[in-house]
Amino acid sequence: MGRLPPLVWLVALLLLLPTPLGRALIDVLGGVALVLLALPVILGGLGWIGWKVLQSRMQVCPNCGSASLQATPVCAVCGSAFSTADTAQASRSQTEVDSTPASSVTIDVTAEDVDS
Ligand SMILES: [Zn+2]
Repeated sequence: MGRLPPLVWLVALLLLLPTPLGRALIDVLGGVALVLLALPVILGGLGWIGWKVLQSRMQVCPNCGSASLQATPVCAVCGSAFSTADTAQASRSQTEVDSTPASSVTIDVTAEDVDS
């Protein structure tokens, strides 16, 4: 058994003897261990929040399905326009303008003889 350096003996005495400095050292070690255990959880939560924020700012191309940020008006992969919500709203308003209620429409059906 090799000779231990005096610092190891000092730390061992501080940990073994019930002194306030030993208790403080144990508290510090416990805090460090707690931080080391909680750090992956905290970083994982921050990463998850960041991913959700990034995902909310991204949009999927309706033509090719590639995702990109909303800064570009057209898809960087296929070049089609991203304004799907605008076109959907425009088409919906267009159909509202063009369509008439079915109850107010009369369909005239006339019978014709196809026998010759
Ligand atoms: Zn695309």
